[in-house]
Amino acid sequence: MIDITLLGTGSPIPDPDRAGPSTLVRAGGQAFLVDCGRGVLQRMAAIGLGANALSALLLTHLHSDHIADLGDVLITRWVTTFAPEPVPLPIIGPPGTADVVEATLKAFGHDIGYRIAHHADLTAGPAVDVHEYTEGAVWDRDGVSIRVTPTDHRPVTPTIGFRIESGGASVVLAGDTVPCESLDQLASAADALVHTVIRKDIVAQLPQQRIRDICDYHSSVEQAADTAQRAGVATLVLTHYVPGMVSGQEDQWRTLAAGAFDGRIELGDDLHRVEIHPRT
Ligand SMILES: [Zn+2]
Ligand SMILES: [Zn+2]
Repeated sequence: MIDITLLGTGSPIPDPDRAGPSTLVRAGGQAFLVDCGRGVLQRMAAIGLGANALSALLLTHLHSDHIADLGDVLITRWVTTFAPEPVPLPIIGPPGTADVVEATLKAFGHDIGYRIAHHADLTAGPAVDVHEYTEGAVWDRDGVSIRVTPTDHRPVTPTIGFRIESGGASVVLAGDTVPCESLDQLASAADALVHTVIRKDIVAQLPQQRIRDICDYHSSVEQAADTAQRAGVATLVLTHYVPGMVSGQEDQWRTLAAGAFDGRIELGDDLHRVEIHPRT
């Protein structure tokens, strides 16, 4: 069984009820944080999980809304890990990830210095183990394997999607992307596809061109559903709602997806949890 928790379902615009894009995937006793948007550690705290409990951080791309709380994840994990020899946090992302992690640690350099000066048992800064990939197998540990493939979120490039497999179940996380062949292949016959979505029918009507621009590099609800249908996915999980999904309008979004996809559709508020079992 693989357990998916939508930690943050919000858009880049701050929302009092939705944290920024982040999804927790728990499989085989391991916990993977996929993207780390605004408020992610507060949402993890709500389910009793600390930054020190993460097996790895997976980044689909380096857009600010998806990495807004990277510094919080790195620093909080560091100061709340009490083992004498902390295991470096594996961070897997597209090329550019190492730059961003290094720059983030640099931005917190003063803080890191204060804490090392103050606590005798802290002798080094946060330990990280960064790996950059665009394609192929990226993780194989204790029954959990992960592979990645490029997605299409141009001009943001490179961007990647993840396929996590454990105990015969498979979950694909698309991140932000328009429909593309490589995602179709990654998601092929997956038990679940977690896809970010925008309502192009709403966004295309807005007066600001800068906001309308986002239509050209995201999937609409219908396009995400089309991808799930083409790939033969069992469960489609929608997240990162743009504009923010208004309470009571969930069925509108569900209906749009159901027009193109005949499997199970999951969507909801932050902390919505979905259990994924292998098909029998
Ligand atoms: Zn993006
Ligand atoms: Zn995004």
